[in-house]
Amino acid sequence: MNKQSVTVIGLGQMGTALADAFLAAGHPTTVWNRTPGRADALVARGATRAASVAEAARASELVVVCVLDDAAVRELLVPVADVLRGRVLVNLTSGSPEQARAQARWAAEHGVGYLDGGIMTTPPGIGDSANMILYAGSPELLAAHREALRVLGDPVDLGPDAGLASLYDAGLLGLMWSVFGGWLHAAALAGADGVPARDFTAIATRWLGTVSWFMTGYAGQIDAGEYPGDDATIDVQVAAIGHLLHAAEARGIDNRLPELHLELMRGAVDAGHGGDSYARIIEAFRAK
Ligand code: NAP
Repeated sequence: MNKQSVTVIGLGQMGTALADAFLAAGHPTTVWNRTPGRADALVARGATRAASVAEAARASELVVVCVLDDAAVRELLVPVADVLRGRVLVNLTSGSPEQARAQARWAAEHGVGYLDGGIMTTPPGIGDSANMILYAGSPELLAAHREALRVLGDPVDLGPDAGLASLYDAGLLGLMWSVFGGWLHAAALAGADGVPARDFTAIATRWLGTVSWFMTGYAGQIDAGEYPGDDATIDVQVAAIGHLLHAAEARGIDNRLPELHLELMRGAVDAGHGGDSYARIIEAFRAK
């Protein structure tokens, strides 16, 4: 079967991985990069080198851009708006929801189909269907190009608001950093008593499955605006975090992260919500 041709603009670490995945899946792939030498290896593996952004955009109906930031996207694509007309632009460059919505408006004004994407992996994870690529802006365009886009990772449709891929991406990275922080604090604690990080992490990753189950239940409470403490109350968790703080302090571990959690919990207790579930703490984060 003839595979759809694709263009990849931007061949940094991520753009190179994207182009490689398209090539590996048999898609005729045209590439362009500001520093042309970065295309050499891809060309050796079968990609077609475009001499300009315009030539790259003209080569395919599906045009993927993955460069450093939103300013670079605009710098490259505004001059070729006429070439992009009637094509589908998939912007996999990280940015803010506001930037994504502005790009979607610009694309609509110029007759360009637009999908904004958030890549939820690093370059070695591209091509693995276990990893998500979030798309927002046009469920119809995603459906039409799903076959080609699925070679990059599992395409997740977030609907017609082009800002949502960036919004989810930002939130999910925040979640990752919080998990990393808690895990590294805990690995330092366990390591202080000679437990190898690998041993601790084998148990920790299993625990994350249970934590995901808690989150799923608490999400329903957040949406309902009611936080019944019928599984574990904040009062109970204030006592539990005391054990963590004590054990860590006794081993000279930096306790700034759990101290922040205790501060958030105490805020809820002081406001009279100690009997509620942990989900109540969302109120501390919400805009006042
Ligand atoms: P990178 O390796 O630093 O590559 C940056 C790319 O942007 C290069 O192709 C560079 O071209 C190009 N570029 C920068 N400024 C430009 C400009 N003014 N005009 C034209 N091209 C310009 O970065 P990366 O890791 O591939 O990341 C690319 C995007 O993917 C970023 O938005 C990043 O947030 C996102 N992303 C990356 C990862 C990851 O794990 N790496 C994960 C998710 C999302 P030159 O080669 O000429 O410098």
